[in-house]
Amino acid sequence: MIIKKRNKTELDQYEALLSRIRPDHPKFREMEGDFARRNKGYIGERQVDYYLDELAAEMTILQDLNLSVDGKNMQIDNLLISPHAAYIVEVKNYSGTILFDTFLQQFTRDDGSQETGFRHPIQQAELQKQRLQAWLQEKNLPLIPIYCFIAISNPSTIIKVEGEKEHIAKVVAHAAYIPGKIMHQDNAVAKNTPIQHQKLGAKILGACKQTYHLPMTRYGIQAKDILPGVHCPACKYLGMQRIYGTWLCPKCKVKSKAAHKRALLDYFYLIKPSISNRECRKFLGISSKNITTKLLQNYLIYDKKKRRWRKH
Ligand SMILES: [Zn+2]
Repeated sequence: MIIKKRNKTELDQYEALLSRIRPDHPKFREMEGDFARRNKGYIGERQVDYYLDELAAEMTILQDLNLSVDGKNMQIDNLLISPHAAYIVEVKNYSGTILFDTFLQQFTRDDGSQETGFRHPIQQAELQKQRLQAWLQEKNLPLIPIYCFIAISNPSTIIKVEGEKEHIAKVVAHAAYIPGKIMHQDNAVAKNTPIQHQKLGAKILGACKQTYHLPMTRYGIQAKDILPGVHCPACKYLGMQRIYGTWLCPKCKVKSKAAHKRALLDYFYLIKPSISNRECRKFLGISSKNITTKLLQNYLIYDKKKRRWRKH
């Protein structure tokens, strides 16, 4: 069973942020680049999930796991726990050709125009394995064997090895072959005394930290940098006008009944998890208090004590 699913809240926050910051903001380019990189990573992880889901019937799966080990944060893309062992599956997105050199312990990627060196993914995964082992020990949890795999998410990436091919092939593969490798390994340790993997998974989940680094904080963005207004769903123009019960884009003339919903979500992501009538009028650019109440009561909950609206 998958007991922890990866979510894309952070990516949604980035999208909201980028659509409400002036493009000449000194951090805009950096944010745009970080968003593109994270988005690519997420797409790769989802591609790997597609294959690992096959194992969900017999194993406990935790996606995008964050644990604190000796005060340091440890992030694992996928942790699968069977009755006999645990499997760390790290996802790597590289386009072009990747090369593992087992003599020099080097890892490089050639995208066709240039060669770049990266941290060795196997060493990285081994380090995670040691940290997870230390964590299990610290918490007095069953010390099951841990194996790591590197899933290459892009099926067209060419994997090359200089040196000991077998050594690399044991650990690294395109995503589609990872479940087979895990099953193979799991059969080899099937004689071990079985543990209750659901129970261990639940304990790990309980210790898992929900780390929401708001992109805002990361780049030092302040509430005053966030542009108010309603986006046009067609041309993305920020500044739709409320006319005769509907939103009108002054640029492309498209009309929308519900364009304010996206704006309110942006508000919740970027400014506060709740909104007052006054704040809403200011943010959406509406003057009538009654119209604002009508828009809000359609799909938000009103907290009478605090006089604020929030999501269900
Ligand atoms: Zn428009």
